[in-house]
Amino acid sequence: MRTASTDIADFLLHQIEMEIVPGRHSGTVIEGLFSFSAMPKDGPSVTDRFRLRIAVPDGFPRTLPEVSELNHKIARTAENHVNPDGTLCLGSPLGLRVAMAGGQSLSDFSDRCLVPFLYATSLRLSGQLGFYFGELDHGADGVFQDYKRIFGVTTEAATLMCTQMLSIKKRVANKRQCPCSCGRRLGKCPLHLRINSIRSLVPRSWFLVGQARRTPP
Ligand SMILES: [Zn+2]
Repeated sequence: MRTASTDIADFLLHQIEMEIVPGRHSGTVIEGLFSFSAMPKDGPSVTDRFRLRIAVPDGFPRTLPEVSELNHKIARTAENHVNPDGTLCLGSPLGLRVAMAGGQSLSDFSDRCLVPFLYATSLRLSGQLGFYFGELDHGADGVFQDYKRIFGVTTEAATLMCTQMLSIKKRVANKRQCPCSCGRRLGKCPLHLRINSIRSLVPRSWFLVGQARRTPP
């Protein structure tokens, strides 16, 4: 079985300008220049580097790392999805879990969660407009848009209904009317497959407040 330290060592083999730094009671902190090249089929190629701190918690991959940009290369604005303390808002918690599904390693996290963010950021910084890997608003509205995309539904009402379905037991949800307004019960609509795949990634408690709260924990 791979250990956390083997995993981090593997990651550092590919990120040779990063290193482990002291400074936390738990987990592992990696700092340095993070380099990447992305050549997506549907967008321009980007090669870039950012000075980052990646705080890998002991609970990884169940709990995802917190990533900060250290050089102010990215202005710390909501538009850039960077918090005032430099931490990057890589996506909604649910969106990140979905992106990480089946992923175990720090390299998986880097490829699926971090590089897409930095790719979009590099394009924005270089003045190239475009919406790659799904551009979102910062904060609660962005989370809600992300939910809509993840659920694959078209309206806000349907998005909200999906979160309600996820907050109740599968057996009960399958008997309710389907959020996609197909007129069937959820259990009879293909949407239930997507809902169930999300059930396997995050606990029901994530959605318990459902209707009242638009931002997940
Ligand atoms: Zn349906």
